[in-house]
Amino acid sequence: MTLDSVSSTLYEAFVRKNPAETEFHQAVYEVLHAIQPVLRRSPELRDAAILERLCEPERQLMFRVVWTDDSRRVQVNRGFRVGFNSALGPYKGGLRFHRDVTLGTIKFLAFEQIFKNALTGLGIGAGKGGSDFDPTGRSDTEIMSFCQAFMTELHRHIGPATDVPAGDIGVGSREIGYLFGQYKRLTNRYDSGTLTGKDPLLGGIPARPEATGYGTVYFLQAMLAARGESLDGYTAVVSGSGNVAFHAIAKLRELGAVPVVCSDSGGYVHDPAGIDLEVLRDLKVTRRERLSAYPEHVPSARFFPGEFPWDVPCDVALPCATQNELDEQDALRLVKNDVRAVAEGANMPCTPAAVQIFREAGVALAPGKAANAGGVATSALEMRQNAARDRWTFDHTDRTLRKVMEDIHTECLSTAEEHGLSGDYVIGANIAGFRTVVAAMEA
Ligand code: GLU
Repeated sequence: MTLDSVSSTLYEAFVRKNPAETEFHQAVYEVLHAIQPVLRRSPELRDAAILERLCEPERQLMFRVVWTDDSRRVQVNRGFRVGFNSALGPYKGGLRFHRDVTLGTIKFLAFEQIFKNALTGLGIGAGKGGSDFDPTGRSDTEIMSFCQAFMTELHRHIGPATDVPAGDIGVGSREIGYLFGQYKRLTNRYDSGTLTGKDPLLGGIPARPEATGYGTVYFLQAMLAARGESLDGYTAVVSGSGNVAFHAIAKLRELGAVPVVCSDSGGYVHDPAGIDLEVLRDLKVTRRERLSAYPEHVPSARFFPGEFPWDVPCDVALPCATQNELDEQDALRLVKNDVRAVAEGANMPCTPAAVQIFREAGVALAPGKAANAGGVATSALEMRQNAARDRWTFDHTDRTLRKVMEDIHTECLSTAEEHGLSGDYVIGANIAGFRTVVAAMEA
């Protein structure tokens, strides 16, 4: 995966400007590489410094978050919000609460959001935020206290026409509710459209929790159909057990596939009969426990502590946990076991070397910026619902989501084809997203 000499010089300058932000470097490199054919055809883009503009966030906010834990100790965290590109609409993207979050993580995620949000066709710009706050083991009152302190600064910078945060790792509808409550208190406004992923009682859209996982499977289904295959009877390996993984597993089961694996940071569980959704919901959602307890409820299942699931034979693999969770060796194992397709439910879960292995082996690979766009697309539908003071039904949202995912699939496929790289969804998604956002910037 090489760059032409002008792009390499630009990339080197970019790395010097953003030292040590390796995930951000990786995300930018992938895009620069994918758009090489476009740059060859449209050299005028260089003169307009489009790439330099695209790689520089419009704004970056970093702030102190001070809150008090249950033992009345004062805690200090760091909050972030990056508004990366507003050419297509207000900044839009989630908030991630995880102890490893740095400004570099948020910049990489906000950058990915540019292309993902453009692919949805729903008029949303790109942003991302979060904190190095670690929610693990924190009580409900601590989570609320942190969310309120976080919003005490963030509220000045967001709004329905400015920047619309939502959830990501560590932030679900409970956290969005606490954030929204504080936003309402501080601004004296019931602006539902300032945050998405809300509880339906607060103006949230039905099927938003399901949307990212369902959308990833809809994309996978379209990708297999384009190759004359279907999910029926296919064995699936899913990593993660959070919101995205859970709903991907549910949709896979509904469509006749057998998801035999899911994981958390402690290891993975293998259940040859297919992951039991009720057990998983009870463990991870209701009781917020570790996955290692799964075999206590399903004796035929086995837990593999400290291991990654990619050596379990499968027809389709869905990395739905986190960035860079599937490396070259994992990709080689999957290829050896004849994997047919890989769909990224997480953001950038496959390393560049893994992507290259899949490409060379002819495995269909759906990049996260296309495959997991159903979450943010449904957030855009939530904004539409809020602006119209409307109420959508679950079925209406789900049908619209499916159509959005099928349209993204078609666009990625035809864009790759147009550039003589038939079936390369990574190239197709990057070029299609790039073209849309650049057209808006120029307009
Ligand atoms: N965090 C999700 C993503 O990575 C959703 C963002 C949103 O709904 O705004 O796309």
